Amino acid sequence: MTVVRGTFDTSFLQLRVPVIRAKRQPEPLPTYRQIVRAIMARVLPRSRFMVDVPKTKGRACLTFEDGPHPEYTPRILDVLKAEKVTGTFFLIGEKSQAHPDIVRRIVDEGHVVGNHTWTHPHPGTLSGSALVEEIESTDRLLNELTGKSPRLFRPPMGKLTIREFARVWRMSKSIVLWNNDPKDFACGSSYELRAKLSRRPIEPGNIVLMHDNQPFSGDVLSETISHAKRRGIRFSELPIQ
Ligand SMILES: [Zn+2]
Repeated sequence: MTVVRGTFDTSFLQLRVPVIRAKRQPEPLPTYRQIVRAIMARVLPRSRFMVDVPKTKGRACLTFEDGPHPEYTPRILDVLKAEKVTGTFFLIGEKSQAHPDIVRRIVDEGHVVGNHTWTHPHPGTLSGSALVEEIESTDRLLNELTGKSPRLFRPPMGKLTIREFARVWRMSKSIVLWNNDPKDFACGSSYELRAKLSRRPIEPGNIVLMHDNQPFSGDVLSETISHAKRRGIRFSELPIQ
């Protein structure tokens, strides 16, 4: 079954041939899954499937997932407030139930909340109806806490089968992936995350994937935002059509 996963590089759509230089590995050819994702991003409206935002607007979007976390999410919120930047938080239902005050703070401070399932199940382990229940129960809780059901949905690990995509669309959700992933979850220190972000700085059109259940994003967020602002990039919450 076709699985659609998060980060990918659409540069192959420009039919560029990878340049092989001495001491450098050639860029890997796109996989079948990457091709499917890139085609979907091209043919579907952003209101249904988003991996980026329009570059021409000079904007980028910070997205945080897997929270709320009692320590790391408030730290991130403090930085966003100080920088006067709003972002998008894809929340897990059971963690939102455990930390309702943080959910309310996220919304009160102007950020957008998206649905990231109730338990963050591993992709492919649930039936279609169980996935729908994960999404609906999270919607119900977030509606109770914030007065609104999220329109945005991000699948755990960015993976959904085509059949699951169809189910989520029938729930009138916009599916949101990303096109800039510094892999904060794999970093062992702030230094390592800083190095990753400097190798691939935020660009206009980026949807940046970060995790607010990880310790280092809050450490490097302020300098990351400042660096992008100095290059003329403005930040918005999703969606930007
Ligand atoms: Zn996640």
